[in-house]
Amino acid sequence: MTPRVLVIAGLDPTGGAGLTADLAVLRRANVAGVVAATAITVQDAGGVRSTVAMSGAFVAETVRMLADRGRLDAVKIGMLATREIVDAVARSLRTIPHGPVVLDPVLVSGTGVPLLEDAGVQALLADLVPQSDVLTPNVPEAARLTGSSPDTTAEEHRAQVLRARGARAVLLKGGHRIGEPDDVWVDAERTIRLYGRRLGDGRIHGAGCALASWIAAGLALGFDGLAAARRAKAEVAQAIESAEVAFNGVRYLRW
Ligand code: PLP
Repeated sequence: MTPRVLVIAGLDPTGGAGLTADLAVLRRANVAGVVAATAITVQDAGGVRSTVAMSGAFVAETVRMLADRGRLDAVKIGMLATREIVDAVARSLRTIPHGPVVLDPVLVSGTGVPLLEDAGVQALLADLVPQSDVLTPNVPEAARLTGSSPDTTAEEHRAQVLRARGARAVLLKGGHRIGEPDDVWVDAERTIRLYGRRLGDGRIHGAGCALASWIAAGLALGFDGLAAARRAKAEVAQAIESAEVAFNGVRYLRW
C-alpha cells in the first residue's frame, strides 16, 4: 500500500512553500499526503504580509479525523503560528498512532516575519521537540532554540544540544552559512557533516519545507533517518539548480 504522510503546515498562496509545496514533494516522492492546515498566509516573493491562524481545536480535529481514516506512516510539521496550535499538535500526537515525526521548527520567514508567536517557541521545545524523530532547524532557528547567537562556528555542538532536548536526530541545515552550505547530522551514534555546494545566489523560497517533506517521505518509505536526509538533500539540491526566479532574485522550487 502507498505510504501516507500527514503534513501539519500553513498555506502559502503562491505555492512556493507551505502545505501545497509539501504535497507536491510527497507526490513526487510516491507517497500519499494528507494535510492539517494550521494557518493561511498572504505572501508573495516579496515576503509574508499577513497571517490568519486556525484554532488549536480545529487543527486537533483535523488530525484526529485523518488518523481515524488511515495509517500515518510519517508526520511532517511545518508552520504552527500559535502556542495554542503547538499545544494541540503535541497533545494530538500523543493520542494517535503515527510513524516518525519530522519537525521543521518554522519560526521566522526569510524576510523576518514571525511564523510562530514567541509564546509558542518554548512550547515547541518542551512538547514537540521530544516527540520528533528528525528536527530540521536552519542556523538562525538553531540559535534561537538553543538561546545562542547565530554564528556558524559551533554547529556540531548546537545540533548536539538540540538533540539533548529530546529529538532522536537533528539535521542542522547550513543554507544560511557564509561559504558552503554544509549540514550537520546528529543522532545517537554519530555527528557528521553532510557536505553541500552553493548553487547560485539569491534567496530561495520553500527549500526548508521541501527538505523536511522529502525526509518524511523517505521515513514513510522505510529509509532510516540519515539515508532519508541524504536523499532529501540531493533532491532539493537538484530542484535548486533548476529553480525559477519569481521576483527580485527570489528563486522558487518546482516539484
Ligand atoms: N510560508 C509558509 C506557509 C511556510 O511554511 C514557510 C516556511 O516554512 C514560509 C512561508 C517561509 O518561507 P521563506 O523562508 O522562504 O520566507
